[in-house]
Amino acid sequence: MKERSKNPTTKMVAKERIGVLFLRAREAYHEHPDRSNRYVALALRIAMRQRVRMDREFRRQYCHHCFTFLVPGQNMRVRVHRSTVVVTCGICNKKMRYRVVRPHDRNN
Ligand SMILES: [Zn+2]
Repeated sequence: MKERSKNPTTKMVAKERIGVLFLRAREAYHEHPDRSNRYVALALRIAMRQRVRMDREFRRQYCHHCFTFLVPGQNMRVRVHRSTVVVTCGICNKKMRYRVVRPHDRNN
């Protein structure tokens, strides 16, 4: 098993890397969708190893069941049901539900 650093900057670096990986996933999607999925897998591994919580903008960009990188209008479907956003993965057809929060406390 790889070492897990006690240095707090490691988590910062991990978050930064996750951000970069999602950026790359987005860029790669049009030409190499499978590469995007690979980037998601790498980002998840970094998050798990360094025990960092992924930011919400990233958590919502992949399927939580099959870990496919999700692109609106391409491989995902978004529906609003009452006050819940239901995202359906176009690959495994499973659903993820997100509660809609009030606009002024959006940062959790
Ligand atoms: Zn899926």
